[in-house]
Amino acid sequence: MKKIFLLALMVPAIFFCGCQNKNTNNAEEDTAPASDVYFTENISPEGVMQLFEYLKDNVQGNVGIKVHFGEDGNTYFVPATMVEPLCKALNATLVETNVAYKGRRAQTDTHIELARDHGFTFAPIDILDEGGELEIPIEGGKQFKTAYLGKNIEKYETIIYFTHFKGHGRSGFGGCIKNASMGMATPRGKKAMHSSDFPEVVASNCTACNACTYDCPVDAITITDKGPVIDREKCIGCGKCISTCPHGAIQPASDSLQTERFLEGLVEYAKAATQNHNNIYFNVVINLSPTCDCGGHPEAPFCGNIGILASMDIVAIEAAAHDLVDKATDSDDAFLKVNSVSGKHQIEYAEKLGMGNKKYNLINIDKK
Ligand code: SF4
Ligand code: SF4
Repeated sequence: MKKIFLLALMVPAIFFCGCQNKNTNNAEEDTAPASDVYFTENISPEGVMQLFEYLKDNVQGNVGIKVHFGEDGNTYFVPATMVEPLCKALNATLVETNVAYKGRRAQTDTHIELARDHGFTFAPIDILDEGGELEIPIEGGKQFKTAYLGKNIEKYETIIYFTHFKGHGRSGFGGCIKNASMGMATPRGKKAMHSSDFPEVVASNCTACNACTYDCPVDAITITDKGPVIDREKCIGCGKCISTCPHGAIQPASDSLQTERFLEGLVEYAKAATQNHNNIYFNVVINLSPTCDCGGHPEAPFCGNIGILASMDIVAIEAAAHDLVDKATDSDDAFLKVNSVSGKHQIEYAEKLGMGNKKYNLINIDKK
């Protein structure tokens, strides 16, 4: 109801302000109204607060802000200072889940220690799976019927997904959908999403440089005189070795439907995480590395920083962020170009599952 009220308030502003853009990528005719996505080029804590002014009436109850604390060695994650004023203004808790691979983010105590080391010192931290696991049925799920999420998600009526929008080796791009899916799942849920995602080996290309064994987060790769061997019992399908190998000796599986299944699994988990909560979404489009913040040695950005987006619609904000990156790189699909994986099916499938609308009004608040 609040959302409807807010939209009603915004209509005159949208109509009379010449600063919004209509998404023109929607070839299909549909009757659903476009969703509002607010945008600023002011990449700062002040920019975040200015965007939040447009969405603040949607906050209810106890607030959790889902962030990514960054991996050891990674400097591309969204800095703590960006979310600090928002977190303090809402008296919110920073929320995260433990990961399924080795490192400090695998255990609650060391995960929190890493978060503090990365500057997230201004609010309580809740590692959601510390409280156990929640099994959520996924209505209409094709890949999964049940999602395994961190149990403490139940404590938050409003969840703000404060997301770093960037590339990802297996999903093309990672934005709010990935933050709500992989980011809210327990290690069991994360493994389930990656389960059909084992890479394939082209042994003749291997030069035994060992870069992949260094980067594999679960020590699943052994280099033998017959090339790399991947232990399927250990592999979590993260795809890091695919981006790491400089000689194409480890590649995505040739199953052409594998990426589609992976993307649909992500979307289904995101649906489960968001369906019983009041959600607000931010995409911070900076440090556009082809790879994600879970790697300690991300690849250099392929594009300059773009800005910050905020919306109540998870589908619209993903579509808008993707379009901005495409525009900045003069490309139809920037992530397909850098990762050889298109993540656009995330947007299509999320709309199909009724999670939002890929048609959007981009409202540039800098021009208001
Ligand atoms: S996909 Fe590659 S890097 Fe990731 S866990 Fe499996 S073998 Fe290791
Ligand atoms: S990174 Fe590639 S070339 Fe190097 S050891 Fe691994 S598979 Fe072989």
